[in-house]
Amino acid sequence: MSRLLDGKAVSKILKEEIREEIVQWKEKGVQPKLAVILVGDDPASVVYARSKQKVCEGIGMAFELFTMPSATPEAEILATIEKLNNDQNVHGIMIELPLPKGIRKETVMAAVRPDKDVDGVHPINRGYILSGEEGLFPATPQSCIELLLRSGVEIAGKHVVIVGRGETVGKPLVFLILKHNATVTICHSKTPDLGAFTRQADILIAAVGRAKLIKKEMVKAGAIVVDAGINEIPGGICGDVDFEAVQDVAELISPVPGGVGSLTTALIMRNVLKGIVLQGGVR
Ligand code: NAP
Repeated sequence: MSRLLDGKAVSKILKEEIREEIVQWKEKGVQPKLAVILVGDDPASVVYARSKQKVCEGIGMAFELFTMPSATPEAEILATIEKLNNDQNVHGIMIELPLPKGIRKETVMAAVRPDKDVDGVHPINRGYILSGEEGLFPATPQSCIELLLRSGVEIAGKHVVIVGRGETVGKPLVFLILKHNATVTICHSKTPDLGAFTRQADILIAAVGRAKLIKKEMVKAGAIVVDAGINEIPGGICGDVDFEAVQDVAELISPVPGGVGSLTTALIMRNVLKGIVLQGGVR
């Protein structure tokens, strides 16, 4: 029976660290602030924006929500972003997705100043992931790494198999985990005999979006399993890993919910603080 990679516990520690860092910034006269832009009324986006506000309130970070109707012209969204880019009191900008039809996502994302792009989606930040330079990187791949490191898992020298090469999780994770000196294999929907690869993993990370895709027989005994998937099923959500069965063979496993997803909001807040440094604030 495996032990849990406990996202909630790690999130609590992260938030405490961030809270302390915010106190230090305030002592230097800087009030860290996150601005969130919400266009339209996608119910999930409204919930995500409100949950960020709640976390901000809990850790002492200022928060401002900019809501716009779904018919807002793209130019108006870009003008709001430009205003926030130039506002010295705003250190992080986040655009809730999805954007309404007719708004070009790439154009909007690329309009955010890279050093305020706390979602890590600007092409410059995506380039920094590849080059290894300091930038702002997406929260979910960072969550996978934090969950491992803070649970005492050594990544260096391990064979990490990532299932999924999506732009949000799998692809950025490849480069972030390479920095930790793992040997990385990446699998996707065109990988023949997925199990032949996943069974080689010391650390198996699933970022697919297919409920319970990873079965017990696809996991090596004693492996560490990180599940970044979120899938809606009748009565709730589940991950990409068949948790009940896989926990019989894995040494450590992250649950869904309560694993990777529990860390993401805290890591966006940590990006806001990193942004202050990148914007020229002195630590
Ligand atoms: P995505 O862009 O849709 O990418 C999915 C990847 O999975 C693709 O590379 C796809 O392969 C691969 N795939 C699909 N079916 C497969 C199969 N049967 N076998 C092997 N690979 C398969 O997804 P994403 O945005 O990266 O998100 C991945 C998962 O993470 C989703 O469940 C999402 O909900 C979750 N997520 C969680 C958080 C969080 O906070 N925890 C945040 C964001 C996303 P191809 O490239 O060949 O199509």
